[in-house]
Amino acid sequence: MPFDAAPPRLWVPKRVLATPAALAWPEGAAMAERAAALGAELVRLKSDRLTGLPDTYRDAKTTLALVVAPPSKRRPQPIPPSADFRFDLAAGCPAHCQYCYLAGSLAGPPIIRAYANLPEILAELPPLLGQGRVTSTDAARAGEGTTFECSCYTDPLALEHITGALATTIRRFGEWEAPVQLRFTTKYDAVEPLLGLQHNRRTRIRFSLNAAGAERFEGGAPRMPARLAALRRMAGAGYRIGLTIAPILPIAGWEAQYDRLLADCAEALDGIPDPDLTVELITHRFTESSRKILRDWYPGSRLEMEDAQRSRKTTKFGGIKYVFPREQMASLRRGLEASLAGHLPQARRLYWT
Ligand code: SF4
Repeated sequence: MPFDAAPPRLWVPKRVLATPAALAWPEGAAMAERAAALGAELVRLKSDRLTGLPDTYRDAKTTLALVVAPPSKRRPQPIPPSADFRFDLAAGCPAHCQYCYLAGSLAGPPIIRAYANLPEILAELPPLLGQGRVTSTDAARAGEGTTFECSCYTDPLALEHITGALATTIRRFGEWEAPVQLRFTTKYDAVEPLLGLQHNRRTRIRFSLNAAGAERFEGGAPRMPARLAALRRMAGAGYRIGLTIAPILPIAGWEAQYDRLLADCAEALDGIPDPDLTVELITHRFTESSRKILRDWYPGSRLEMEDAQRSRKTTKFGGIKYVFPREQMASLRRGLEASLAGHLPQARRLYWT
């Protein structure tokens, strides 16, 4: 078997900074209690302004702030090409991926913020039913209904044993008698609390996977066999599932390595009836600002981020991103698509980027 189901290692923050407003929500109080029970030091702040934020990377990544999402952060936004809307249950992530896409998107030290006012966050979603302009207008994806993505600024499963927010959200979508779908991506494997929920197939969990040679860039995240075991369990529990192959890297022997990964995925799904499998293929890219932050966070990293090996592309917001040159991109794409067709012919490919 290419996967195993060893008990997941749960993240425990060293310090939890809880604002009075967050603790006033029953959800926030429960998060504080769960973190303290795991051994975290609970700091009850006097005001709702976050103070005493750590300034080193290491201290920041072990700090969880319990806060209330203000109205501006609660407003769902379109998020092409993944979903009609994104909304956030948290911001920040405890893992240490050397290519982390959050670098450059979240300001300040990389602490993890969990939002306590979940009822207010979820109340923003029903008025958006049928209003989607991303997946809803794509003929190939319209069957997914109005789609809502909740992993743009966090890995929600990494925090679930403390927040419980994902389970509440999955249940809410399960009860929502309408063409809607909740989506999230994860590198984590602690799926046990999600298995028995009444999801009514209105949630798609996508596992972020990579070739074995890229695992060294993903510090703190569960290894690939653990993610594949979690994939199998969630598919077996009837969830819609997906593979997010990212970031695709031209590491030595990449063709064979990605082929092996997709063969392992096929084996993990063997015998699962109708997994409704989607695949997203995302090549590695970075911006000037994300590279600067990542080099500061991971000074010894061997992840290639050199101008000379990249093409510059203008983003739709006028910024510059560095991607692989056209020839290399085409070769990666040919290789990955051939492996997909060979091992997972039933998978629906959503996009290549
Ligand atoms: S799991 Fe995702 S969000 Fe977390 S550090 Fe890795 S890339 Fe960043």
